Amino acid sequence: SKEQGRNRYAFYTDALNQSISRRLQIEGYLRGAIERGELMLHYQPQYDVSSQRVTGVEALLRWNSPELGQVGPDEFIPIAEQSGLILPIGRFVLQTALAAAKRWIELDPDFKLAVNISPAQFRDESLVSFLQEELAKHQYPASRLELEITEGILMRGGTQVEETLAALHEMGVCLSMDDFGTGYSSLSYLRKYPVDELKIDRSFVNEMTVDESDRELVNAAISLSRGLGLRVVAEGVETAEQLQALKELECGVVQGFWLSEPVPQEHIGKMLERQARL
Ligand code: C2E
Ligand code: CA
Ligand code: CA
Ligand code: CA
Repeated sequence: SKEQGRNRYAFYTDALNQSISRRLQIEGYLRGAIERGELMLHYQPQYDVSSQRVTGVEALLRWNSPELGQVGPDEFIPIAEQSGLILPIGRFVLQTALAAAKRWIELDPDFKLAVNISPAQFRDESLVSFLQEELAKHQYPASRLELEITEGILMRGGTQVEETLAALHEMGVCLSMDDFGTGYSSLSYLRKYPVDELKIDRSFVNEMTVDESDRELVNAAISLSRGLGLRVVAEGVETAEQLQALKELECGVVQGFWLSEPVPQEHIGKMLERQARL
């Protein structure tokens, strides 16, 4: 009836208003969150499959808002991306992570720090000079830094992106394709751009022990990396069975809750100290 239609309409606009006001709240409180000390980084270790040693970490943002509580990066990063707030936040992430990782490469010279870079950050003209300054300031070797980007950045391309890629390559900074396999591009960008690593998306890893086609896709990604001479990381390893399956496929590096959740900075230092003594 007409009445029902009106109710349904009211229901949808209500839900829409709620999600808009949540967005606006997040954007509002996120502004100034760095200055108020509400943002911090956790680090998730990555492990060499055969030796089980920690080879590096991925930096992951955490936001504890006094007003909103813990807000996950899956929710606030897209909002930061659209509002431009990702630029100061991204600089905060790089500065903080490099300062921490400076200590870690002293414990293990082969240690690698991985940092997520969103499309807006990658298109920012000042990214390269900012990175150069920060690497110099922390005396951190460029080759021990890896930027995780998604294939959308490479697909869209453009002069700015090409220049940034060339400059990063020149500097010796590594590039990792995050969420590999979830896009729908041709693989030609792997030939065109200086990618160093593929990170197999956790949706494939998740199902690989129960779904034969997911296992085959993981296998294909590992073979592809081998063929192209790239590093390969499987993310989202949650069970012993998945780890075993990845071992059998000779995956290089693994990351996931089964091995370790993202942890505060101090934990990483302790892990590496223990490892250095072995
Ligand atoms: P991502 O780059 O794909 O990061 C991996 C996500 O998977 C992280 O979620 C991590 O906590 C989670 N994860 C790790 N192991 C497992 C596992 O075994 N099972 C499951 N179910 N999940 C696992 P998180 O920390 O919530 O981050 C979500 C996304 O937010 C990231 O996805 C990344 O796209 C973005 N993000 C996080 N930190 C940053 C940052 O500093 N800068 C930018 N630009 N984006 C960030
Ligand atoms: Ca990532
Ligand atoms: Ca990922
Ligand atoms: Ca992701």
